[in-house]
Formats: sequence, structure tokens, C-alpha cells
Amino acid sequence: MNDALRTAFAAVHGGRPEGIWAAPGRVNLIGEHTDYNDGFALPVALAQTTRLAARRRTDGRLRLHSAQAGGPVVDLAVADLAPGAVTTWAAYPAGVVWALGEAGHRTGGADLHFDSTVPTGAGLSSSAALECAVARAYDDLYGLGLGPPALARIAQRAENAFAGVPCGVMDQMASSCCVAGAALHLDVRAGSHEHVPFDPEAAGLRLLVIDTRVTHDLGDGAYAALRTGCERACALLGLAALRDLSPEHLPRAERLLPARLRPLVRHVVTENARVAEAVAHLKAGRVAELGPILNSAHASLRDDYRVSCPETDLAVDSAVAAGALGARITGGGFGGSVIALVAADRAERMGAAVTAAFRGAGYREPHLIAVTAAPGARRIE
Ligand code: ADP
Ligand code: MG
Repeated sequence: MNDALRTAFAAVHGGRPEGIWAAPGRVNLIGEHTDYNDGFALPVALAQTTRLAARRRTDGRLRLHSAQAGGPVVDLAVADLAPGAVTTWAAYPAGVVWALGEAGHRTGGADLHFDSTVPTGAGLSSSAALECAVARAYDDLYGLGLGPPALARIAQRAENAFAGVPCGVMDQMASSCCVAGAALHLDVRAGSHEHVPFDPEAAGLRLLVIDTRVTHDLGDGAYAALRTGCERACALLGLAALRDLSPEHLPRAERLLPARLRPLVRHVVTENARVAEAVAHLKAGRVAELGPILNSAHASLRDDYRVSCPETDLAVDSAVAAGALGARITGGGFGGSVIALVAADRAERMGAAVTAAFRGAGYREPHLIAVTAAPGARRIE
């Protein structure tokens, strides 16, 4: 596989790369829309990765090519990189080089060629995989000595400030910091993380991603509106972040808020509690206990946060009807992917039932991906 990447690099840039790096996509087990509320999340890195063949340049040019995007090489001057200057896919990788410079790190140009198995726009963070591959490669090639959390923050800054996408830090932390066999318990405010064992196979279970292959266009604006709603609620409650509201104080807080903000706050507060509950179960080896937590999370995302859609609801409902222990929409919402936890011996039947339900509804056939907790961004050659 890496030979094919080298061949492609040679065809695009000529010669040989200095090395090959890989950064994974991620799926979030629990803790959705909590990262930008200073809260908690529990993502897992996927075996699906974006691989990057890279070589430094001495002339300050950044030359980018992707097997997925195709087209000619995007040729940029590192010195001219500025937010808004790049509006295509290249904004994600170029943004990382810009963010490193902004943070005072001395780097330079490079020839980069990407090839990815992370589905794009499926809520599995292909954008973070792209960014974290570059961050990691630059860290190695330019000897920056930044650790995975610092690289994740650089990658997030690239996506926020350079590509103009107001995402939280969960995606980049997962792609950068995960280790094999574990989920990443993130405390966004503390800027800390902990590896929590996650091995569904050992418990006779499977975690399946059901990529519905739909994205509803309202996604971007709606995400920003949800963030604004959370900020407004904090202002009204006199809190720094919704992370500071505990479940006991939720009823009182709801009485103080206008009706439209109550469900948002309810989701964030109960979701943070669900992360704590899930972590406790996983630490005790009770993987199956995640099932009911996924179901309550889906109800909360569908009814309170309102980021589900008919396709993701159908995936959840048909998975549960076919014997899943629990299922929920994962990622930002408005389409994308669902995760379902299911007994290993029922996994195939469940997948077939979901596919049949989609066919019956006239939807495109979903893609099914089995999750194994994979490592974060790394050099592979
Ligand atoms: P997600 O991160 O959930 O996959 P996003 O909308 O955040 O969805 O990011 C998807 C975008 O990232 C794509 O539209 C494309 O611009 C860029 N992208 C991701 N992977 C690649 C790749 N391998 N090659 C080129 N662009 C990519
Ligand atoms: Mg993304």
C-alpha cells in the first residue's frame, strides 16, 4: 500500500518522499456537542486513515496533492498563507502550516501527497485526519518536538481560523492522541485526556459505524446557531460554560431560560453526565452497558438538540429493532453516521436489516464500518 503511495508521490512531485505518515478518522462514542461547551467526550480513532507522503522543500513553496481531490497540484507560498487565501480542500493542510508559523515555529515548504480511506463528510473527521497527518509530518520533518496534544491544537486552529470551520477540539485530539485499544476521555476545559480501554470484541460485541451517506446542507449554519444558543444560555445563567452546570441544578436553570434554550442546555448537561457514566462502565469492563447510554444520547440529540434527520433516525431505529444494544447519531449531525453496539453474532443480521430498511425507504445504501480502536497520528515509514 505504501509502495503505491510512493509511486503516486513520484508521479505528482517527482522523486521520493522523506517519509510516510498516517492519521486516523474518528468516531465519538459519547459526548456530542460538548467540546465547545468546555465539557467531556469519548472518541475512538478508526483504522481508516489519511496517509501522507511528504518531503521538505527549501524554496518556501507548499505543493499539495490529494488522490481524493484529484486535479493539478495546489502550489502555494508559505510566506503568503493567510486566512481566507485558500478556499478549497487545500485550506485544511495549508492551514496547519500557517498555524505552526503563527505559533512561532520555524518550518518551511514541502511536497505533500495524500491518500485516504476515511470517508469524507460522513461525520468521521476526514478533515482532522488531513490536518493531523500534516501536523505530525511537519513535527517530524522540521524537528519541532511538539507532542500530540499540541499538534491537535495547531490542527484545530487551522480548521477554525484558516479554513473557517468553527469546530471544537475533539476531532483533532482524537486523530492526534488516541492509542490502540482505547477510547480517549477528553476534558476539554482542563485540556487533559485519559486513555480508557475499549475492546468490544473481547466482550463478544461489535461497534459498527453506519455511514448514511447523506449530509443536509443546513449543517454549517445550524452548527454555528447551536453554539450561539449555548453561549447565550451561559450568559443568561452567569456561567463560563455549560460544563459548569450540574444535573442537580438543571431544573432551576431551565426555569431561568427562555423556552428555546432549555432543550439545548438539557442536552449538554445530560450528555456530559453520560460521558462520565460510560467511562465508569468501560473502566470496569462493562462494555455492553454503553448500549442504553447510546439510546438516551440519541433521544437527547434527536429531541432536545435536534441534530438528527430521517436517515439517521431510521438507521438507529432499524439497528435497535434488529437487536442492537444501543445506537445513536454521532458527529455534528444533520446526516453523517450512526454508531450501533451489537452482539458479535447478531452484527451481520443487524447490518442487513439496516440496509433493507434504507432500501425500503428509497435511501442510498449505507456503508457499514466495523470499529477497532486504532492509534492516532504516527509515522509509518
Ligand atoms: P468530515 O471531517 O466529517 O469528513 P468535513 O466537512 O469536516 O467532514 O471535512 C470534509 C472535507 O475535508 C472535504 O470536503 C475536503 O475538503 C476535505 N478532505 C478530507 N479528506 C480529504 C482528502 N483525502 N483529500 C482532499 N480533501 C479532503
Ligand atoms: Mg471535519
